[in-house]
Amino acid sequence: MKNTVKHLFGPVPSRRFGRSLGVDLTPFKTCTLDCVFCQLGHTTSKTCQRCEYVPLGELKKELLSWIREGGTADYISLAGSGEPTLHNGFGELIDFIHANSDIPVALLTNGTTLYSPDVRESAAKADVAKVTMSAYDQESFVRLHRPCEGVTFNKLVNGTYAFRRDFKKSLWIEVFLVEGINSDIDNVRRIAALVGSLKPDKIHLNTSVRPPSEETATAVSEERMIELASPFDMCPNVIIPKFNSISPGDELNEVDILEILRRRPCTAVQIAEAFDMHMNEVAKYISRLLYKKLIYSDDRGIGAYYSAVKSKEELVLR
Ligand code: SF4
Repeated sequence: MKNTVKHLFGPVPSRRFGRSLGVDLTPFKTCTLDCVFCQLGHTTSKTCQRCEYVPLGELKKELLSWIREGGTADYISLAGSGEPTLHNGFGELIDFIHANSDIPVALLTNGTTLYSPDVRESAAKADVAKVTMSAYDQESFVRLHRPCEGVTFNKLVNGTYAFRRDFKKSLWIEVFLVEGINSDIDNVRRIAALVGSLKPDKIHLNTSVRPPSEETATAVSEERMIELASPFDMCPNVIIPKFNSISPGDELNEVDILEILRRRPCTAVQIAEAFDMHMNEVAKYISRLLYKKLIYSDDRGIGAYYSAVKSKEELVLR
């Protein structure tokens, strides 16, 4: 049966949040940034404009019906197809979730809107806020994130500091490392100094374990990631990605996706439509299949097509 829920996805298993129900507050893909490592591909609507991208009433209705049907999750995460704080009703939505459920709310933000007192006030309603801090100066910020006009490194840092001053709940910082851009040890130390002064409750070090927006956004190896974690040891909770972790449910989905790719090449969007999955979930499965070398990607000028590897010979040829 076709899923009629439009703005919820999951609950998906995640190392960071356990079983997390995702709430998508923006159309695909609306963001203040166009990060080279974005697993969702290029930002098609790069903007700083805050508005009601998705009617708040629709979001509340879908959430309420999920809650009333007995939905369970470890977190309800405001995330999805872009930057959730661009939705001007996200604070009201958090209040609504708290009024109707005991499930804690996680806000996954790139932090670029936190310079605004209104955004900080709404963001402080979340039980967990995860903010990205991957650059160490304006130049590295532009190289990594290709921001919308008016978004700067200083605004990000100052906004995040101001948020931390008032936010006494759990602050998690994500640091995304890209080989050759911000993975040099001196630069990692500069990022670590910034992150440390925010006194985060957890730090998530990440790299391109999923297919990035740009092929040049090279992943840092697992061994190197362990080395680069040491400047962050001011925080007792530093988590680095598992490069090939998998759960039994994931395995079933992978087999189904592989099956369809054996029959015909598909884009990520086509896979999402075929399986009625959110793009975030599709990106996760594609990355694992690529990692296992069971599929390959082929850029046909209109985006990447994925195909199953048919034989060892084909694998060698690639
Ligand atoms: S990684 Fe996040 S912040 Fe960066 S472009 Fe993608 S959705 Fe936006």
